Amino acid sequence: MTIIPFPGHHRARCTRKECLGCHLCHGALFVCTRCGGAEGSLPTDCPGERMTEQQHDDVYAGHIDFVHRRGWVAEASFNSPARYK
Ligand SMILES: [Zn+2]
Ligand SMILES: [Zn+2]
Repeated sequence: MTIIPFPGHHRARCTRKECLGCHLCHGALFVCTRCGGAEGSLPTDCPGERMTEQQHDDVYAGHIDFVHRRGWVAEASFNSPARYK
């Protein structure tokens, strides 16, 4: 039995050596370097590729979500602010 690595979001990290502190250092803002999602526009699981501008907006609005093994679904992401309304 092989364990397939879960396709999680790839959190962007600060790479500036002499940084005095930015949102990446402090970890206040979650930005995925793989799909380009950030905070409210992050799907539940990482789609593994850059989202289009439209997908970005739809995830944030709670219209669509990307779920591992299911793909894009017409549900609100756990990260979407629309979910808490
Ligand atoms: Zn991602
Ligand atoms: Zn920094």
